[in-house]
Amino acid sequence: MSILSNQLPTAELQALDAAHHMHPFTTNDELKERGVRVITRGKGVYLSDSEGNQILDAMSGLWCVNIGYGRERMVQAAARQMMELPFYNTFFNTTHTPAIALAAELAKLAPEGLNHVFFAGSGSEANDTNLRMVRTYWAEKGQPQKSHVISRKNAYHGSSMGSGSMGGMSYMHEQGGMPIPGIHHIDQPDWWAEGGDSAPEDFGLERARQLDAKIEELGAENVAAFIAEPVQGAGGVIVPPATYWPEIQRICEKHNVLIIADEVICGFGRTGNWFGSQTLGIKPHIMTIAKGLSSGYAPIGGSIVCDEIAEVINAVEFNHGYTYSGHPVCAAVALENLHILQEENILDHVRDVAAPALRETLDVLGQHPLVGGVNVCGMMASLPLTPHRESRAKFAMDTGTAGFMCREACFANDLVMRHVGDRMIISPPLVITPDEIDVFRTRALKALDDTYAALKDKDML
Ligand code: PMP
Repeated sequence: MSILSNQLPTAELQALDAAHHMHPFTTNDELKERGVRVITRGKGVYLSDSEGNQILDAMSGLWCVNIGYGRERMVQAAARQMMELPFYNTFFNTTHTPAIALAAELAKLAPEGLNHVFFAGSGSEANDTNLRMVRTYWAEKGQPQKSHVISRKNAYHGSSMGSGSMGGMSYMHEQGGMPIPGIHHIDQPDWWAEGGDSAPEDFGLERARQLDAKIEELGAENVAAFIAEPVQGAGGVIVPPATYWPEIQRICEKHNVLIIADEVICGFGRTGNWFGSQTLGIKPHIMTIAKGLSSGYAPIGGSIVCDEIAEVINAVEFNHGYTYSGHPVCAAVALENLHILQEENILDHVRDVAAPALRETLDVLGQHPLVGGVNVCGMMASLPLTPHRESRAKFAMDTGTAGFMCREACFANDLVMRHVGDRMIISPPLVITPDEIDVFRTRALKALDDTYAALKDKDML
């Protein structure tokens, strides 16, 4: 019987998986002990597993399935393109209609002045492109020393050497020789965890001004770019105080430092606009895109580049590219996704229906004794767990213990929430309805209750 038939017993699939499949960001030996969950199908906001459970996916896979699972139109778009032209490259004076159409459509949707697209296969690849592109830009302008890039601690920009170095996850930097030289990290604008007694507005300014100090320290003539997610996603959905981005923008303009907005999560409706930069009031020179670009139906990413940089880069041979840059099937799938987002007015649905309903539910969950607050921007949110709401205290045990217990409790209640440390993360498909948000609320409350009881049981509260 074919493994793909979804008819093998779960235990057999788990054994094969453990024997041959190395999972990302996983201690595979522990997973083998625990037994991996086998996901078999997706429809709308629900997943099925090999045991027949119907799971509400409040994470859109990995923040990507913006239009929901099981879209026939996406299947047709992929099939049509596979029949017509499954692959051709864009390196040697050739192009194809999916790449042309997608680049043109992205230029239409992007903020003014961002009219050029360099395609990649993923967000990591796109950020590696960005690193080389900003350095090449300054070198071509006669300033090769203007090559340093400033990022933030606890940022996530990908797993490749360039993107992982620009990311600020210390546990990633412990493995494999990262960060590469020329990358610097300032503190993140995480008021909930690091703001102490200061007012969020003051804290936002203080953290933004670290960028000014870092640029002064390195010398503005040596700093190529600042890279940041409009709202940090994998770091724990850290919504910066309102004062943060305007100050960052001012500092970058003052020092002639480029801004790379990593829109891999925030893009394509997640924050209620096409791009998080629009929601947060950022004027980037480059935007990194992936995930919601194709709603995860096909792997594709890219960089949307401003006229000023494109003019310089287009004048030389930029010795960079990926076999799958602008892959025709992935591009056709992404284009169909953009059409669906527009034809179904999904951004209006987010702004008028889904985000307000989610906010209401989060406010209820935020009252739970285990939850210390609500971080939310459109359809991305986190609920920090705490043993003491008033002081926003951390748990005595290792960070992530309570979060992991809660994630498992969610799974046991047919709900996917991810945990980042002790924060529970919510990022559902944008098409989620108020009724489905009610289901989310019921299951999330039950999971929080179960976690609370388990923590009490173990004397961890
Ligand atoms: N940037 C951000 C903001 C991300 O969240 C991610 C993935 N979580 C990436 C880049 C990397 O994208 P990919 O996993 O497609 O390489």
